[in-house]
Amino acid sequence: MSDVIVIGGGAAGWAAALSAVQGGLEVVLLEKLAESGGSSAMSGGCLAFAGTELQTDQGVADSPDRLYADLREVGQEVNDPALVRAYCDAQLASCDWLKAAGVQFSPVIETAAGQSVPRVHTVDPADMVRALKAAAEASGRVVYRPNTAAQALEQDASGRVRGVRLTDGERLEARRGVIIASGGFAKNPDMLTRYAPHYAPAVFVAGAGSQGDGLRMAQALGADLRDMDYVKGTFGKHPTDETNDHSLQAVYKGAIAVNQDGQRFVDESISYKLLGDAVMAQPWHCAYQILDQAIFDTGDDRVRILDFGRRLEEGLFYVGDTLAELAAQVEIDADVLQATVDRYNGYVDAGHDAEFGRTHLVHRHGALRKIETAPFYAYPSTAVVFGTYCGLRIDPQARVLRADGSWLEGLYAAGEATGGFHGAAYMTGSALGKAVVFGRLAGQAVAAS
Ligand SMILES: Cc1cc2nc3c(=O)[nH]c(=O)nc-3n(C[C@H](O)[C@H](O)[C@H](O)COP(=O)(O)OP(=O)(O)OC[C@H]3O[C@@H](n4cnc5c(N)ncnc54)[C@H](O)[C@@H]3O)c2cc1C
Repeated sequence: MSDVIVIGGGAAGWAAALSAVQGGLEVVLLEKLAESGGSSAMSGGCLAFAGTELQTDQGVADSPDRLYADLREVGQEVNDPALVRAYCDAQLASCDWLKAAGVQFSPVIETAAGQSVPRVHTVDPADMVRALKAAAEASGRVVYRPNTAAQALEQDASGRVRGVRLTDGERLEARRGVIIASGGFAKNPDMLTRYAPHYAPAVFVAGAGSQGDGLRMAQALGADLRDMDYVKGTFGKHPTDETNDHSLQAVYKGAIAVNQDGQRFVDESISYKLLGDAVMAQPWHCAYQILDQAIFDTGDDRVRILDFGRRLEEGLFYVGDTLAELAAQVEIDADVLQATVDRYNGYVDAGHDAEFGRTHLVHRHGALRKIETAPFYAYPSTAVVFGTYCGLRIDPQARVLRADGSWLEGLYAAGEATGGFHGAAYMTGSALGKAVVFGRLAGQAVAAS
């Protein structure tokens, strides 16, 4: 028998396992696939941290309080203030803790959704998960079981969660508790149909294990759910390209988004999750990011969402020497597209976007750019659901709660399996960040119990 069973081997699961062994506990970690890593390992590797040395070195003034204000604003204050505060209070120490585990960070990225200052800290995500796993296993107190899926949670006579039943019927017991870190449900069509029918035409990219198992298991014991109405896709996914898992955010460098009728439909600087909602409401659930050569030249091949050059090489952009030529290729009326661009350029000159109120490139960051230097580019864009960002209701100690706010004793959860932290939308880096920070908090909470 172990002290704690961790269900799932993504960032949240391995962070929980590492902090639990650092608290002196014996851990069993279950991973239903042959390899651990989950969505975490295939992610963009962006983590939202504030007040770090890396930011200071790059001259960025940030703080946990500023991060708190941004997260609450992006989440439209639907998110749970106690969870947001817990994240902000724990993230700096979690960043140092990752470094101590051998995780390496690249310089902070400037362009990201929902951030009033640059705070995206990037890692190689698969390396990060491997580093957490290696550090946890080096303790000699982790039993790692790949190809092992949890099927149900087991309670003792008092109702306390004491263990897990596996799909093959084997029963495992834990002295202190069970941590659900099984990720979201972006690969479960039934749950998507139920909770996010408006995203049915979107593209879905996530770890194969993202099937909502943890939500199902905890709900069976009476766990409450949060934020289920706010599943969102990320704007900027090429609708037909299978080779590119990541979205492109030319809008955050100054592009506009126009629909098949040649019309803008949104303030392009808002969170790319809200842009995802907006594009789903357009004809064919698709739009074009329209930009010129000057904007194209501000791309950055070190950042996947800004790597325009690679997309051009892959033939994913339409290119025209004039806007009329571009319009013909994307089957938009040339006069309409020209009028849309002219109107927008007029707003940039006037300093006021009379239609959608766009004031900056992204969030409150960067001056708007006109679209005027040939050649012109169009990038077809729909929404991609990378994760579900909603789920089990937890408290700041990562304890899973019932609808009446009481704790389902012995049960903890972290990462994408949980709801309440993001609220109505999403800041870049906050999902991987949440997996690490709340995974670590969950391990600490079990060790302290
Ligand atoms: C392409 C892509 C890019 C992304 N980019 C970013 C980004 O840059 N920044 C950001 O903040 N977020 C990003 N996200 C979202 C973010 O990566 C995830 O929300 C986060 O990593 C989830 O971590 P997790 O540990 O909770 O879940 P996961 O990493 O998905 O791990 C869950 C694990 O549990 C396993 N599992 C599931 N059910 C069971 C079971 N019954 N028994 C045992 N094991 C089980 C799964 O197989 C999986 O290995 C991205 C997601 C994707 C897909």
